[in-house]
Amino acid sequence: MAKRDEQKPREMERRRDNAPPREVAERLIAELAGLVRRLAERHPDYLNGLNLPDRLSLTLEVPLNGAARGSASQVIEQIDRELLQAVDLTQSVRLGSVFCFQCRRSDCEHAQPSQPDSVFAGYLPTGKPTWQSLSQLCLTLEPAQVDKLYRPTPELVFVLSTGRDLRAALLDDFGGRARNFVILGQLALGHLVFEEQKRALSIQAVLGEASRRRRRLDLNLCGLDRADLHRSRLGPFDGPALREVLRRCRYRLAQLRRGREIDVARLDEQVLPILTQLKGELERLARRERRNTQHVRERAREDRPTTAAMRDLEVAAADRFFRDLHEKTAIVLGPKGRVHVFSFDGRHVTSMKLDRESVLRRQERGRWVALGDAEIEGLRQRLSEQNRLKGAGED
Ligand SMILES: [Zn+2]
Repeated sequence: MAKRDEQKPREMERRRDNAPPREVAERLIAELAGLVRRLAERHPDYLNGLNLPDRLSLTLEVPLNGAARGSASQVIEQIDRELLQAVDLTQSVRLGSVFCFQCRRSDCEHAQPSQPDSVFAGYLPTGKPTWQSLSQLCLTLEPAQVDKLYRPTPELVFVLSTGRDLRAALLDDFGGRARNFVILGQLALGHLVFEEQKRALSIQAVLGEASRRRRRLDLNLCGLDRADLHRSRLGPFDGPALREVLRRCRYRLAQLRRGREIDVARLDEQVLPILTQLKGELERLARRERRNTQHVRERAREDRPTTAAMRDLEVAAADRFFRDLHEKTAIVLGPKGRVHVFSFDGRHVTSMKLDRESVLRRQERGRWVALGDAEIEGLRQRLSEQNRLKGAGED
């Protein structure tokens, strides 16, 4: 048995040594590409993957004495550095911005939402992006939904716009013909409330310039910054779940483009069902979270230690009552190992879980002694008295 285990790796090694050098190199490159993608995934701009370049140039140092560790961390650092540079190089798309054809850049004041609750509302003929509050946009495009934003517990509102509408005003000479940044559709939504701010989000399907030679379909998110994207909660959404939904949508978009010719009208059409699907997934996600928080709240109410303790006390048989001689407290055993500690003047001190052994040990060592019927009755009365006073105070 031991012998076979020793032989296996050696045989694998031999087979690897015999593989044609080209095959070995291909395998290494494929593995490196996988590593780059994995490192890119933890890059803050990954969701706006437009910035991911087609290829990276790496300088590899290969130690021949088998000391791989130092070189390995160098490779990782180098990839991180290159990815960062790639992000800076692709100026046509920046995280959370649209391209301003008037200023011919995406870092001018027009390129980003003007207010936390603004969403992209299309271009002016000169190529200047316009932003509008979500409620205003909703009033124009989806008046039936507006009241959702103003309910005591506001609900999420979604406004879907086609690329054609968002680009409609653009003149050919001011971005109408540009291909470095083409909005193909948008799902605006809100409000996401965090940091005591109402935020709106513009999720856009965009054809952008990934590098000088290649264009790419991807998601662009306006209204959140890098740090926001990595929150554990985003308004009604669970952070990781939201990122997963966006990732899947991004993948569907990336699958779309085939062929060299860019047919914007056709892409507009293809993008719409993907954004509609995204909308459905986000609605479900928000609903699920709402249900979960409701459950948590209900459970918290049920499990308030005092409530559980009082419930156990009510049904406990006489042989479940003890006096703790060390602590001078009353002990009541509930089901499932629950142990409740009360003061004799009628306060719930604490509750805990103890296994059977611990419970028995305390009795055997004489630390816990059984309470008499009269003492139990007295304790019950004082506790229910206290509880009634407290309940009245709370209401
Ligand atoms: Zn501008």
